[in-house]
Amino acid sequence: MVRLGVPMLIWLWVVAGLAGLAALGLFYVVRDARHQRRRRRRKMRLFCCGKCGRVYVGGRGEPAAPCPACGRMNNSVRTM
Ligand SMILES: [Zn+2]
Repeated sequence: MVRLGVPMLIWLWVVAGLAGLAALGLFYVVRDARHQRRRRRRKMRLFCCGKCGRVYVGGRGEPAAPCPACGRMNNSVRTM
């Protein structure tokens, strides 16, 4: 068995604690990035065409989207 002195045990304890905190920080960074990506994907907008009057849904957080019927760019009227 390897004999460790008290300073070495304290050092190992500190290093293990810092490694745990780093792992926890990394976990939250990855989780938040995934959550934001999912939210951006889910965010749908409602558009009403000013030319032909068609109501359609667009997504991905874009403030304007072309009408599928006539191609006119319209601003969103509501975020869902
Ligand atoms: Zn249209």
